Amino acid sequence: MKALVIREFGGPLILEDVPVPQAGADEALIRVKACAVDQFDLTIRDGKFPTAKTPIILGHEIAGVVESVGANVVNIQPGDRVTSTLYLTCGRCRYCLTGRETICADFKGYVGIHTPGAYAEYTTVPAVNLVKLPESISFPEGSVIANAIGTPYHALTKRAKIQLGERVIITGAGGGVGAHAIQLVKMMGAFVMAVDIGEEKLALARELGADIVFDSSSGDFSGTAREWTNGEGAEVILELVGTKTFESSLKSLSRGGRMVIVGSHTGTTLNASPQAMIANEWEILGSRNVTKRELAEVVALVAARRIKPIVTGTYRLEEAESLHQRLRKQEIIGRVVLEP
Ligand SMILES: [Zn+2]
Repeated sequence: MKALVIREFGGPLILEDVPVPQAGADEALIRVKACAVDQFDLTIRDGKFPTAKTPIILGHEIAGVVESVGANVVNIQPGDRVTSTLYLTCGRCRYCLTGRETICADFKGYVGIHTPGAYAEYTTVPAVNLVKLPESISFPEGSVIANAIGTPYHALTKRAKIQLGERVIITGAGGGVGAHAIQLVKMMGAFVMAVDIGEEKLALARELGADIVFDSSSGDFSGTAREWTNGEGAEVILELVGTKTFESSLKSLSRGGRMVIVGSHTGTTLNASPQAMIANEWEILGSRNVTKRELAEVVALVAARRIKPIVTGTYRLEEAESLHQRLRKQEIIGRVVLEP
């Protein structure tokens, strides 16, 4: 099969002919129809993910057709259209058993890092990770559901517990996760201030329903946020950027507000005053990807067209290198998808 292989970190994506992988007893072999490209792919490719090893095939945002299944698999069968969660979890610890498997105590790693991923014509994944896709959802749409829609769905419902009429600031709102977060917040009956850099991303944010947008290339957005909320601050901040926007975000948070941290690609530390946290009863929460139960809920929302997957282009494996270059320059709007 054709696959894009990375032989050394920092090196090129090499299109190679490699053997089709075989499904283990608990796995499914998937004929890859679409694999979305994610910022996380760059982190891995650059050698910044400690437990990744070369050679490696990237690709963890998968949609395809089940080709074959291992002996123990009962939840899916050959011919099923599917998408997959990306975590390799134990299925036995207290977190896995209580529906919080994204914080599995015996975490085994990631699809596309610790197993060969879907920048290839075929890939294998644990069958328990798979959720069926109805015919009405295309494969490119299906490939973005688990990560780009599932991640903000988990963050907004289970972590921020958004209430009707609340005001929500989304940093990095024009990227893949942000574009879907805007739609989810609007669906939940709350208001959105979208923060990102560049008119093209902000235009998309407006189109998706953002009530107000802010170009953060002009710096601190807390003044605008305070104005928007009559001086009160936003009840919820969905922080998709991390260190770079954290100070502005904190200055924009209301008393009793919740900040959910989902993205962290701009630094490794956050500065918050404990006195301010106590005085304001702020909740600063982490949020990690999406559970399988939630993925099924998101698939249903997409099938009902309550949420529209934002796929801004589909490309061949040969075009992945140029996509990565554009992703590095923050030029990608929404999600782009490879069709191996
Ligand atoms: Zn577990």
